[in-house]
Amino acid sequence: MFKKILIANRGEIAVRVIRACKDLGIKSVVIYSEADKESLHVKMADYAYELEGDPIGVYLDKQQILKIAKLSEVEAIHPGYGFLSENADFARQVQESGLVWIGPSAEIIEKMGDKNTARALMKQSGIPIVEGTDPLNDKTPEEIFKIASKIGYPVILKASAGGGGRGIRVIDDELSLLEGFEACKRESKAFFGNDDVFMEKYVSSPRHIEFQIVADLYGNVIHLGERDCSIQRRHQKLIEIAPSPSIDEGLRRRMGAVAVAAAKAVGYTNIGTVEFLLDERNQFYFMEMNTRIQVEHGVTEEITGIDLVVRQLRIAYGEILELQQQDIQFQGYAIEARINAEDARAEFAPSSGKIEVYYPALGPSVRVDSCIYKGYEIPPFYDSMVAKLIVRATSYDLAINKLSRALSEFTIKGVKTTIPFLKNICQDSVFRRGIFSTSYLASRLQDLIPQEEEDELDEISAIAAVIAWKNQERDK
Ligand code: ADP
Ligand code: ADP
Ligand code: MG
Repeated sequence: MFKKILIANRGEIAVRVIRACKDLGIKSVVIYSEADKESLHVKMADYAYELEGDPIGVYLDKQQILKIAKLSEVEAIHPGYGFLSENADFARQVQESGLVWIGPSAEIIEKMGDKNTARALMKQSGIPIVEGTDPLNDKTPEEIFKIASKIGYPVILKASAGGGGRGIRVIDDELSLLEGFEACKRESKAFFGNDDVFMEKYVSSPRHIEFQIVADLYGNVIHLGERDCSIQRRHQKLIEIAPSPSIDEGLRRRMGAVAVAAAKAVGYTNIGTVEFLLDERNQFYFMEMNTRIQVEHGVTEEITGIDLVVRQLRIAYGEILELQQQDIQFQGYAIEARINAEDARAEFAPSSGKIEVYYPALGPSVRVDSCIYKGYEIPPFYDSMVAKLIVRATSYDLAINKLSRALSEFTIKGVKTTIPFLKNICQDSVFRRGIFSTSYLASRLQDLIPQEEEDELDEISAIAAVIAWKNQERDK
């Protein structure tokens, strides 16, 4: 196994990768910005190097990161998610400098990291895709109108290089088409440095179902089942569930086989995710492939017992995948809720500041992947996700009960978080029934946003939780 690796990321995913390294006896090296001096990943890693530059720029600074990798004599680089994780150029430079890239090769990232190229490749391989176009950047307004009316409204405009729900516009009619196209290009250029935008048919009331792929360097490919990520706000996932409460074994098997075929068609290696849209008639379409560890990987780990970050390291090191498809068993249901430092009552505006009280939920089958602690000051520069609460139970119903219980224990004071909003979702009958499309949250939003600050009862149970936590700390 590797002896020392560099983690080119921050936040909870850097912490997650450090933990996997420690579990395997690998030394970890991290980089950080000045704003991240007090971050948990810096405290937990074996070695940490501050990089010069602006707070986001340092995590995108290929040259400086490679320099630190050389200096600290690591054998490999783990990119996490976001930042450089789907940057084929960087993956290539890492490989060319004699280091191992913990992920698929640069060639595969190039093919699958760009939504448009991936669609074309999938189509060639006979994988169903949503009806759509190539980038429209060289088309005249008249041509764009023509294409949209041929596909039929509503249509969706998407940035080829997009991610994290950014660079997406749903267009209901021709009135907003050109304006939406320009806005989408602008957003794409600003976030991804590329303004290629293409159009797809908007699948009405779809479910987002994605399959976890594991592939070694020798052509062995399996899937670890699906995650239902239909609970989204503005095309960004908020709650993820494994397995999906709304698909049966037959459909699971068919979709899983297509996901494996998609990965094999491009010679995929390491772990990755094939995302599908599933329509009301249970027809499914390839949407995109994420060539990295996914935010929501934890729910798959909980139902399969397979540590996906450890797998990434083992595969990158050259180990043969000893598991076959029939070895994969699913146990119960796991649900993840993303806890964001945001004010749901102010249109989910990011909330930065100092954490005055921090008590993560505990108890059987409750897991918290987080990067915050009491006294930590959340910098205003980064993604607002600060913790992932993951629970597991024998049935979907019981998993919701457990999530609800864990959310009422989970106490963060000092910044606003989405905990009260998530608690409301747990009480919602549609969520409890388990059949919902990606439009569920938007349609119920007004009822789910907390009307007032946490009520008195919550304050009391939170205080009780903090006391319990303090006692436990003292008894250590
Ligand atoms: P997942 O698909 O794993 O749920 P998200 O789509 O939520 O991941 O993205 C995870 C993080 O990575 C977010 O912070 C998001 O902004 C960022 N991200 C995702 N894709 C890209 C990309 N292509 N370029 C830059 N950042 C990205
Ligand atoms: P990202 O890279 O930001 O994750 P995706 O292509 O995965 O972008 O799309 C994000 C979300 O947008 C999906 O989960 C889904 O809710 C919605 N979406 C994307 N394409 C379509 C489509 N053709 N029809 C309906 N919804 C879509
Ligand atoms: Mg996606």
